Amino acid sequence: MTSILNADLHCHSVVSDGTLTPEALAERAASNGVELWALTDHDEIGGQARAAAAAKAVGMRYVTGVEISVTFLGKTVHIVGLGIDTDNADLREGLEQTRGGRRLRAQDMADGLAKVGIKGAFEGALQYVGNPDLISRTHFARHLVETGVCKETNEVFRKYLTEGKPGYVEHRWATLKDAVGWITGAGGMAVVAHPARYKFTPNEEFALFTEFKGHGGRGVEVVTGSHSAAEYVTYAATAQEFGLAASRGSDFHSPLESHTELGTLPYLPGGLTPVWELLATRIQ
Ligand code: AMP
Ligand code: MN
Ligand code: MN
Ligand code: MN
Repeated sequence: MTSILNADLHCHSVVSDGTLTPEALAERAASNGVELWALTDHDEIGGQARAAAAAKAVGMRYVTGVEISVTFLGKTVHIVGLGIDTDNADLREGLEQTRGGRRLRAQDMADGLAKVGIKGAFEGALQYVGNPDLISRTHFARHLVETGVCKETNEVFRKYLTEGKPGYVEHRWATLKDAVGWITGAGGMAVVAHPARYKFTPNEEFALFTEFKGHGGRGVEVVTGSHSAAEYVTYAATAQEFGLAASRGSDFHSPLESHTELGTLPYLPGGLTPVWELLATRIQ
């Protein structure tokens, strides 16, 4: 398979912080010409069977997926797992652990918001949650937009939900080693999601990719909705430097909120090994 494939290997459903069902996403992806699709909900694989069945129903190839929250050098880093066996017990247990602290964290976030006069945010955010195990900052953002505190979700993150802001709560997610281990132990390929988002220094980023490879990680997102065109070039070079396969995914969450529509990003640049070449046996 070449790099010229409309693969979209990163997006979210109501099973995490997206607003569409796996079935609606599959239809939308197919109608946008996606040829190979993965649903990658945060810390959760509860939507995988539905996504795979929906992909089949619309004649689209599918590969299983997840996006695991990791704490690395004090920042939250996301590791996408592709081609995982969703019945793998260690993976399932690891994901359950990772999801575990979200409810308490959300209550702490609501307490922080209450201190600046925004009351009832926990209950408000819960109204947007499709999966009670997976309450996320995105659900708070939707509630604060809906109640007129902010105009759009981006503004909520900027003013309330990022480091140093009233609704931000420090949280320890999985370790890089564990997340990569769960994915590879389940027969999958670990991929660093949207690396430009972390704003690491060059040394920190070198440490991330070196340790990621050392633990058995094999890919990096090059073309993602979170990267600029210049960043495609930067991370294409990173893929080559570290001998990583390259991935492509919109990170689509919602028709109203997402800037990047399913299946509409540029193709991967040439000269890279696309992740789908290495995933061939895991494609359904
Ligand atoms: P959480 O896992 O609860 O920390 O929530 C992280 C999610 O928040 C990400 O997966 C994005 O969907 C969303 N997010 C993070 N930063 C922003 C932002 N600046 N604007 C909109 N959504 C964001
Ligand atoms: Mn998200
Ligand atoms: Mn992410
Ligand atoms: Mn994502």
